[in-house]
Amino acid sequence: MPEPTLDVLIVGGGPVGLFLGCLLAQRGLSFRVLERRSAPGQHSRAIGIHPPALEAFREVGLTEPLLAAGLPITRGLVTGENGPLGELGFTSASADFPYILSLPQRETEAVLRRRLAELAPRSFCAGVEVLELREEVDGVRVTASEDGRPLTLRARFVIGADGWRSRVREALGLPFPGHLYPDKYLMGDFPDTTPLGQTALVSLTGGGVVESFPLPRGGRRWVVHTGDRLLETASTRELTAMIERRTGLHVPAAECRMLSAFTVRRHRAPGMVQGRAVLIGDAAHVVSPIGGQGMNLGWLDAAALAPLLQESLTGRRVDWQHVDWQHFERTRLRSAHIAGRQAELNMAAGRPVGARAQKMRERLIERVLLSPLAGPLLARAFTMRWL
Ligand SMILES: Cc1cc2nc3c(=O)[nH]c(=O)nc-3n(C[C@H](O)[C@H](O)[C@H](O)COP(=O)(O)OP(=O)(O)OC[C@H]3O[C@@H](n4cnc5c(N)ncnc54)[C@H](O)[C@@H]3O)c2cc1C
Repeated sequence: MPEPTLDVLIVGGGPVGLFLGCLLAQRGLSFRVLERRSAPGQHSRAIGIHPPALEAFREVGLTEPLLAAGLPITRGLVTGENGPLGELGFTSASADFPYILSLPQRETEAVLRRRLAELAPRSFCAGVEVLELREEVDGVRVTASEDGRPLTLRARFVIGADGWRSRVREALGLPFPGHLYPDKYLMGDFPDTTPLGQTALVSLTGGGVVESFPLPRGGRRWVVHTGDRLLETASTRELTAMIERRTGLHVPAAECRMLSAFTVRRHRAPGMVQGRAVLIGDAAHVVSPIGGQGMNLGWLDAAALAPLLQESLTGRRVDWQHVDWQHFERTRLRSAHIAGRQAELNMAAGRPVGARAQKMRERLIERVLLSPLAGPLLARAFTMRWL
C-alpha cells in the first residue's frame, strides 16, 4: 500500500525540529520528524534558553518541564584585569522570565523529545537519514535511508531543520555563503567552586575573555578565548591554568565533566523558502555561539513558521502560495542578521589586546554598564528582546 501523504516532514530532530514537531502536533497536523542519529547525541553545545523562547514554549506545555530542569541566570558580572567593571541584570528582560535559563543542550533536547512523544506518539523517527527531495505537483517526495533500507515518504511541505550541513538545503541547490572567524575557544564543564551562584561571569582580560555560566546541579561552564589557536589536544589542566591566570579563580581540573575546543562561523542562506520546502534553524543561518543565540533563533523560526503551515494546510480558501512567506523569510533572516552582528561585537570585545587597549576597553565597558540607557539596552540585547 502506498504511504499516505503527510502534511509536513521535518528533516532533523535537533532542538529546532523537535520544537516544530510539538507545535504541529498541537495544531493537529500530520507529520514526522526524521532524525538520522539512532541515539541522542552526547555533544554539549548550547546552554542558554532566552525569555522569548520560554514564552513560545508555553503554547505546547514545554516551559514548565524546562524550568524544572534548568537554572535561572539572573545577572552577568563583568570584570577587568583589576576587578569588577559593572554588572548586567536580566530582571527587566521579561515580566515572566527575568533571566536566561541554563540547561545543557542534550538535556533540553531530552525534554523536547519527551514532550513530542506525549503530544504525538511515534512521530519521531530515529535512524532515518534523508537523502533526496523531489518536488511534485501537490507536495514533495522524500527519499531516505532507514538503517540502510530505502524509504520513500510524501508530504505537502518539507522542513529542513537538519543543521548547518543541511542536506535539504543542498538538495534545493541553495548556497550557504559565510566564513570562519579567526577566534578559537576552549570550554569545559566543572563543579562550581566559585562564590558566584546564579551569576554569569564575563572576565575581559588582556589575554582574552573568560566567560563562565552556572549549570544546573552545581556545575559551571567555562569558555576561554585562545587567540587564533585551536587547542584540540589541550588538557583540562591547561584550561584551568588559563582561567586561574586570567581571573584568579581556582577550578578543580581533576573533576572536569566535558572539555572541547571549538571554532566559530557565520553563514546565511539567501532565502528560507523554496517552493514547498522551508529551511529553519542552523540549516538557514549560523551565528557565532559567543552570545548564545543560535538555537533560540531557530526556535523563533519554528514559532513563526507553525501558523503559516497551518494556514496553508487547513485554510479553506487560502492557496499555499498566497501565504505571506516573504514576510516570514524577511523577518527571520533579519533576526539572524542582528544576532550575527551582536555575536560579532561580543567576540570583538573579548579578543586578546595589549595593555593600553585593555585600559581603554575597561573604561568604555565601565561607562556603558553604568549608563542608565545603555545598560538596560545591553541587557535587552543579551536576552534577545529585539529578535
Ligand atoms: C559551543 C557552542 C555553544 C553554543 N551555545 C549556544 C547557546 O548557549 N544558546 C543558543 O541559542 N545556541 C547556542 N549554540 C548554537 C546551537 O547549538 C545551534 O544553533 C543549535 O544546535 C541548532 O539547532 P538545529 O536543530 O537547527 O540544528 P542541529 O542541532 O544541528 O540539529 C540538526 C539535526 O538534524 C539531523 N540531521 C542532519 N542531517 C540529516 C539528514 N540528512 N536526515 C535526517 N536528519 C539529519 C542531525 O543529526 C541533528 O540531530 C552553541 C553552539 C556551539 C557550537
